[in-house]
Amino acid sequence: MDSVEVAAAPDAGPGPAWQSKCPWGAHNTTSMSCSLADVMSEQLAKELQLEEENAAFPEVVAVAEGPFITGENIDTSSDLMLAQMLQMEFDREYDAQLRREEKKINGDSKVSISFENYRKVHPYDSDSSEDEVDWQDTRHDPYRADKPTTTPRKGFIGKGKDITTKHDEVVCGRKNTARMENFAPEFQVGDGIGMDLKLSNQVFNALKQHAYSEERRSARLHEKKEHSTAEKAVDPKTRLLMYKMVNSGMLETITGCVSTGKESVVFHAYGGNATEDKVIPPECAIKVFKTTLNEFKNRDKYIKDDYRFKDRFSKLNPRKIIRMWAEKEMHNLTRMQNAGIPCPQVVILKKHVLVMSFIGQDQVPAPKLKDVTLSSEDMKKAYYQVLNMMQQLYKECNLVHADLSEYNMLWHDGKVWLIDVSQSVEPTHPHGLEFLFRDCRNVAQFFQKAGVAEALNERELFNAVSHLNITADNEVDFQAEIEALEKMNEDHVQNHGKKLPVFSGDGDPPIYAE
Ligand code: ADP
Ligand code: MG
Repeated sequence: MDSVEVAAAPDAGPGPAWQSKCPWGAHNTTSMSCSLADVMSEQLAKELQLEEENAAFPEVVAVAEGPFITGENIDTSSDLMLAQMLQMEFDREYDAQLRREEKKINGDSKVSISFENYRKVHPYDSDSSEDEVDWQDTRHDPYRADKPTTTPRKGFIGKGKDITTKHDEVVCGRKNTARMENFAPEFQVGDGIGMDLKLSNQVFNALKQHAYSEERRSARLHEKKEHSTAEKAVDPKTRLLMYKMVNSGMLETITGCVSTGKESVVFHAYGGNATEDKVIPPECAIKVFKTTLNEFKNRDKYIKDDYRFKDRFSKLNPRKIIRMWAEKEMHNLTRMQNAGIPCPQVVILKKHVLVMSFIGQDQVPAPKLKDVTLSSEDMKKAYYQVLNMMQQLYKECNLVHADLSEYNMLWHDGKVWLIDVSQSVEPTHPHGLEFLFRDCRNVAQFFQKAGVAEALNERELFNAVSHLNITADNEVDFQAEIEALEKMNEDHVQNHGKKLPVFSGDGDPPIYAE
């Protein structure tokens, strides 16, 4: 099995206390290897996350240590930020120049070449995203645009003594010169065609080799830049976004990080001033969806088949898709809020940064259900509450949580709060019922293990939530029926453009109360 390098938790090494806790501070990373299967395991991911949290943030940063980001106290990292903003300006100018050159070269020619691939500011990076114009992949392969003319397959052209073969020195030399135009634009090739330069194969190959290795070097540099930003908790642009929230007075202080997951980083903040239309909670959670694109690849299936997002999905670039996760979490939370399900209240969404009310107190997040020790009375109460919330979620919000477990339920104020709903889907999602069944399994197993005698098993729970009344008495058949239903619904949607009525719930699901 392949061995995969996984960055382990940063050492809380020597240095000032804030440095070891502050995600802005540079941290050392060590590596350990584990198998690909391990990497794919959700359980392991959670454990690693926990380890990482414990090591990097043994506790939430205490107020006494000074504010994290405030209006007045701008830490030194903003110098870096300024430098990076200047660099961004510089890169933009470079790209503008590239565009001018591109235009000059192409002129009115029908066949055009593009330098798109050589721009410093990657289209995904573009900060002009405020305008929300969907980026479309209009790039074309510059190596294909102006292929040099080739000798026909027979290997020669002309007649009699005017025959020239593909090996003809002059033809070949000119062809090589033309091919040089295909090197990266930063590779200066001069006006070889204008000078009727004829390059021998040997010289051309040497130049080609050099051009490619230059290109690879440049790609490596870009890659390094990507990785170094990914290593820190959030990238400079996100920091800037958060900083703006403090600057505008919406947030008073960002105190520290409460969780670093694979796909998101969550910060605690004290709320700032209310505006005309917005009351800011006294304590807020800032969920930053990580813009390291790879992590989200695994989650495509949640969003790309979601009818609400389907049309947009295909048109979007990965960065926008990540914003869609944040947007999805916002919409789902709002639905839940409207149904009266205890969950964080949305404050604001800015790109991939979602601000919501903080579940917890004095910077300490409420414990996850898996970490809290409850009396058997409270555990039973929690169970019935979860059952009711699942039913409400399904019936009133038309949602399936899709990652429901003791990890995403917090115990606060004597009740369970649901969080982490960016992946939640409507039940008619092509895999919606499978997700629901998985949720039911997690919930049933957790409460059964916790000693709640009344806890329904996963199949009973599934029926109680969905009201689909699947009768199979074993898991395999049950799942087969679920999949058959999903398939039936898909076909129905394809043929009739609407979902099966059975999914809308025929009558109220039974409400199980204490
Ligand atoms: P992930 O996708 O990384 O699991 P979550 O939304 O589950 O993201 O957030 C990760 C952790 O951050 C949670 O387990 C919880 O401890 C904390 N957290 C998230 N949102 C809030 C919130 N609104 N209030 C308090 N803590 C929160
Ligand atoms: Mg979570």
